[in-house]
Formats: sequence, C-alpha cells, structure tokens
Amino acid sequence: MEHYQQLKERLAEVADIEATAAVLVWDMRTYMPPGGAEGRAEQLATLEKIAHQKFTAPEIGELIEEAGLETASLPEEAEEAALVRMARREYDQQTKLPSDLVERLARTTSLANQTWVKAKTAADFSLFAPVLQEIVGLQIEKANALGHRGCPYDALLDLYEPEMETSQVRALFAQLREGLVPIVRAIADSGTRIETAFLEQEYEIAKQEAFTRELLQAIGYDFTRGRQDATAHPFTTSFSPSDVRVTNRFLPNRPTGAIFAALHEGGHGLYEQGLPERFQRTPLGHVPSLGLHESQSRLWENVVGRSRSFWEYWFPRLAEVFPEQLAGVDAELFYRAVNRVIPSPIRIQADEVTYNLHILLRFEIEVGLIDGALKVADLPEIWKARMEEFLGYTPRDHAEGVLQDIHWSEGYFGYFPTYTLGSLLAVQFYQQALQERPGLRGELEGGQTAGLLAWLRERIHAEGGKYLPVELVRRITGGELEAAPFLAYLKEKYSPIYGI
Ligand code: ZN
Repeated sequence: MEHYQQLKERLAEVADIEATAAVLVWDMRTYMPPGGAEGRAEQLATLEKIAHQKFTAPEIGELIEEAGLETASLPEEAEEAALVRMARREYDQQTKLPSDLVERLARTTSLANQTWVKAKTAADFSLFAPVLQEIVGLQIEKANALGHRGCPYDALLDLYEPEMETSQVRALFAQLREGLVPIVRAIADSGTRIETAFLEQEYEIAKQEAFTRELLQAIGYDFTRGRQDATAHPFTTSFSPSDVRVTNRFLPNRPTGAIFAALHEGGHGLYEQGLPERFQRTPLGHVPSLGLHESQSRLWENVVGRSRSFWEYWFPRLAEVFPEQLAGVDAELFYRAVNRVIPSPIRIQADEVTYNLHILLRFEIEVGLIDGALKVADLPEIWKARMEEFLGYTPRDHAEGVLQDIHWSEGYFGYFPTYTLGSLLAVQFYQQALQERPGLRGELEGGQTAGLLAWLRERIHAEGGKYLPVELVRRITGGELEAAPFLAYLKEKYSPIYGI
C-alpha cells in the first residue's frame, strides 16, 4: 500500500489548501470590509489555482493508477477502495478543466458577486446582465470541457449531484408540478385564514440569537466545534468536522426567519460535524452531493422543525423568552402560523408547499441558458411570466424577481435543483428512520430528537463520502429518489391545517 499512502499524503495537502480557501470565503461573507473585495478575489483565485495544479499533476494520476492496483482485491465497501474510486472520479473531472479556465471562473465570479449586490440594491437587472452573460459563457465552456452526451447541463449538474441527469430531474419535476399545483390551488380555495400578525412585531435580536443557539444545542450541534455568526444570507461552512460554522440572519420583525435558518443550517452543520474524523483531508471527507446535504437541512428545518410535536415541546420555551409578543398565542396557533402556505416572490421565504415551484422555475431557466434556448436579456420577462403561471404572483421589480438569488453571480449553475432533490430525500429518510426505530415516533412527540440524530449519524453521516448518492440512497432506503413520498407527506400534513 505504498502508493496508496503517498496518494493520501498528496491529497491531504490539497484538502488543506481548499480548507484555507474556505476560511477566506467565510471571512469574506462575515467580517471582511467591502474594500477587501478585489484583493480577496485575487487571493481566492490564487489558492484555487494552486489546489487545482497540485491535484491535477500527472504524478497524482500515476499514484491513483498504482493505488488502484494495490486496492483492486478489496471489497467495494473498503475505505481504501472507496478513497481511490472517489479520487479517480474527481481527478478525471478536474483534469478536463484547463487551469486558465478555472482561474477565470474564480476571478469573474468573485467580482460578479459585488456587481450582483449593486444591481440587486438598485433593482436594476441591466447592471448585472453583462456579467451574467460572461458567466453563462464560462459555464458553457466548462460544460464542454467536462464533456457530456449532447446535454451540456448534465455536466454541470454532475458537479453537485453526481450521476444525476437533466432528463431524470425533468421527469421528477414534472411529477412534482403535477402534484403541487392542485395542492396550492386547494389551499388557496379553502378560505382558511391563518393568524400570523403576532409574528410581525418586534422581537429583540439578542434574544433571537440566544434562542437559536439554544435550539442548535438541543438538536445536537456542538458549539465547541462550531459557531454561529450573522450574515446577509445564512450558510454553513466546514474546515474539518471539528470546525463547522453556521451563520444566520436576524431581523427584528421576522423571528421565524432566524429560527428556521438555525434549524436549516444546523441540519447542514450536524452532517458536517458527523463526518468521521478519519476521513478528514481525504476525498471521503466530503458529503457526496448537495442533494444529500440538503436532505439533512430540510429534514431538521421542515420535517422536524415545522412539526406539531416539535412546537408542542418548544413553544412554551419560546413564550418564556418573548412573553409579551406571544401573549394569548398557544402551540397550535404557532404551529399553524409557521406552516402558512402563501405564494411569495422570494424563494428563501417560501413555505414547504410552494418552495419547490421556485426551484422548477430556476431549473427551466438554467437549462435554457446553457443549451442556448434562452438569452440573458429575456430573463426578467420569463421570470415574471413563470411566477404568474406557477404562483399567481407578479414580482414588483427585478430585486424580488430575477435578481433575488446569489447563485448565478457565484457561477453555481446546476445547483438549484439539488434543493428540491433534498426536500424529497428528507421525507424518504425520515420515513425510513421511523420504520427502523419503532420508539422514535414517541420520542419525537416528546420533543426528543437525539434518537433521530443517532440514526442519521449511523446510517448517513458515518458513511462520509464513500458512496455516490444513488448508491447511498439505495443502501439507506433500499430504493431510489422519488417524488411520491414527499407529495403524500404534504397532503397528510396540510389537509388538517387547511381542511382540504
Ligand atoms: Zn441548505
């Protein structure tokens, strides 16, 4: 196993450079003054270039071949075999990308981010359009360099959701749309009015911070290996399982924004903190796909965090923290308020039912831009038309329309669909856990989530990056990713709330 050991050592160096870049990104989004933007863009581009050059060096390719021979007789489940398999997959992918393209992508996107902020503030798409055009061009260049069988979007999707094809996503999304639209319509026609005015008062930010900390701790997020900071857009980042950071956004009149962001990012954080230490600095030290990552955040945020039993347990505590604001409110009222279904222009504020319609719209646009059927200049119009068609809502301006998300400015094409894939998986995993642990339902009804976390740790987190998503999902559920369980879950949950 001499070559295997050498390969591991070389890959550890690359992992260290990537973790260093992640620290710089965390700093850029939390505490860096705006003046640091240009310098930081250069620093990140340099680090990414070094990591890419080190990883794609011909010696790495040779070491992968040699290590492949050394591990050839091991079973598929063996960690050594998995490590070589994952290294080979990533090596094949990265060697297809020329260094200058990687560098151009990094530099363009970190500057584009600042342009997007300006355009969004001014609600003016024309400020962002030329940069977006440039990014789309680079994405097409990237897809062609990576290679595909006629559908360039496949190559981009594969970066975030390995082995998932555009045609599969399209089929799943068509099924979802068919199921979701009648639910949204039935809810709108039900005439049920859900009281939410008590959420729109002033909730002191320091108390929100303390409460979200308490929630994070209660679901098992370890603050000796993590922290929570404030940012404009909540996110989670990991430098190792021992340093996993979440961020949150606190607004005085939107306490549920911070509560559910904490549970969402907490779900991502639990996954990262639960990855085996021994996989650190190896290709197995990563969550295998964004859909899988999102399955954990959505499970904690929605399936657990927006359940009746969760609030039967937590509402009395929240009412203790905010006695004036929640006077006369009970757990049931609160539960209904946090599950109100209302078509909104903003994806990140959308409820569980309408959320995925926002993703369907973005998926359609991304595929169109990459295969050339759509032009950047047409986006505001298409956005408006689809919002009206899917949600019956007309965006007021570009800021709450086509400019709302950060993703395209960062060069993330192929990323959006993973949010919905994660929503579907969250329900499938949750149902699997209930099936395998008969006592779990009772524990969750009593507000106890430790048993659920133990199941997730054992069945999902402990596998690290050993398997690609399709294989991991098969090992966990015995089947594949499906839309039906999610639709059934929505019907069961929302029928009593809306009397439909
Ligand atoms: Zn997420």
